[in-house]
Amino acid sequence: MKTTEEQNPFRIAQMQFDKAAERLRLEPWLCAFLKTPNRNLSVDFPVKMDDGSVRMFTGYRVQHNNDRGPYKGGIRFAPQVNLDEVKALASWMTWKTAVADIPFGGAKGGVVCDPTQLSKAELERITRRFTYEISPIIGPDVDIPAPDVNTNSQVMAWMVDTYSMGKRQPEFGVVTGKPIFLGGSLGREEATGRGVMITALEAMKDMKIDPKKTTAVVQGSGNVGFHAARLLAEKGVRIIGMSDISTGIVNEKGLDLSDIAAYLKEHKILKDYAKARHIQKELILELPCDILVPAALENQITVENAERIKARLIVEGANGPTTPAADDILSKKGVLVVPDILANAGGVIVSYYEWVQNEQREQWQYNVVVEKLTAKLTKSYHEVIDLMRKEKVDMRTAAYMIAIGRVAEAMQTRGIFP
Ligand code: NAD
Repeated sequence: MKTTEEQNPFRIAQMQFDKAAERLRLEPWLCAFLKTPNRNLSVDFPVKMDDGSVRMFTGYRVQHNNDRGPYKGGIRFAPQVNLDEVKALASWMTWKTAVADIPFGGAKGGVVCDPTQLSKAELERITRRFTYEISPIIGPDVDIPAPDVNTNSQVMAWMVDTYSMGKRQPEFGVVTGKPIFLGGSLGREEATGRGVMITALEAMKDMKIDPKKTTAVVQGSGNVGFHAARLLAEKGVRIIGMSDISTGIVNEKGLDLSDIAAYLKEHKILKDYAKARHIQKELILELPCDILVPAALENQITVENAERIKARLIVEGANGPTTPAADDILSKKGVLVVPDILANAGGVIVSYYEWVQNEQREQWQYNVVVEKLTAKLTKSYHEVIDLMRKEKVDMRTAAYMIAIGRVAEAMQTRGIFP
């Protein structure tokens, strides 16, 4: 049966916006402005491949809103990247930086490519040419990229170098998520996963669930998924299932995360991991467990599977993992969904700390970063949960109401140019 459910990420982002904006009674022109990205840049460029051939690549940088500060958002390398996906991700960044109350706006970028089919040298050339193409509109006080799916601190180092060459001076503040010895922040790599753990723990407190008697399943075992699993396990949560693009792995007694980390370091994917039962990767979401952490891609929890989800608490590590129709089903089932713009804000919060350290030419201690992140995200969590109870809305709508309210206030106070 083919679903008629909306799965265009940008349409979904706009539906989520409308639901919250309606309650805020914003004027129509303001809604129209806040729903639309300020600028969409699309670039097509040639890259020399290792075999001597030349291939064309397409990339995007979408700047959604900068009323509260410079544009901010990651760069994704993946085959399914398209303009609507990048527009959705850029608008989610605006709401994320606003709900976390950091002085940034929202942006996102991506290159259509399959990194599994590219050598390191090819990836470097793609990154450098893409950085060159978008460099007129990025900069430490203008728009600051960061890692996302299939990009990492090495990619950020190439971006810094390319941008700095153009400016003829070191420009470390142009991206975040850099290697520590090149202006990166301690605690940045794990920060998104740490934020998932922090918000999950607060939600468990609210639901009177003891982490030590709790099981969790994590979809995705990349930067966000793996660190979320590791940090939840440190708090006593038993991680019974995990997945990646190749398979799902299950062990009701608890997965051995250090063993999995070592395995992934060598083999990259979980496909032939021998120390757990394998299931179809889609079924990982439906396992009996208390907490589900989707930490892979958009549109994973849909009308097709929402009814079969057993978890009582969903903490969205990924951006856009739940469709609006699935949200309605989960809400009727009494499942608490901690929305992406709050649950995965840990990454951009520490990115902000990294940027501040770059501006100040400082390096903060790891503990300082962790303490500041914990305090900041816990405060945001409580602002959202309090409004959720007061307004009797779902948590996503409450988070959007706070975020949209902050951006709208900034925009209206600044006024309309000219
Ligand atoms: P990553 O590339 O490090 O990892 C992605 C993981 O998802 C990999 O394990 C991959 O195999 C897996 N995956 C891909 N397709 C899958 C599928 N169909 N089923 C199951 N697993 C699948 O990326 P990441 O940085 O961990 O990002 C994951 C999500 O978190 C994305 O939605 C991203 O936008 C979001 N996010 C990332 C950050 C960050 O700081 N990296 C911050 C906020 C949000």
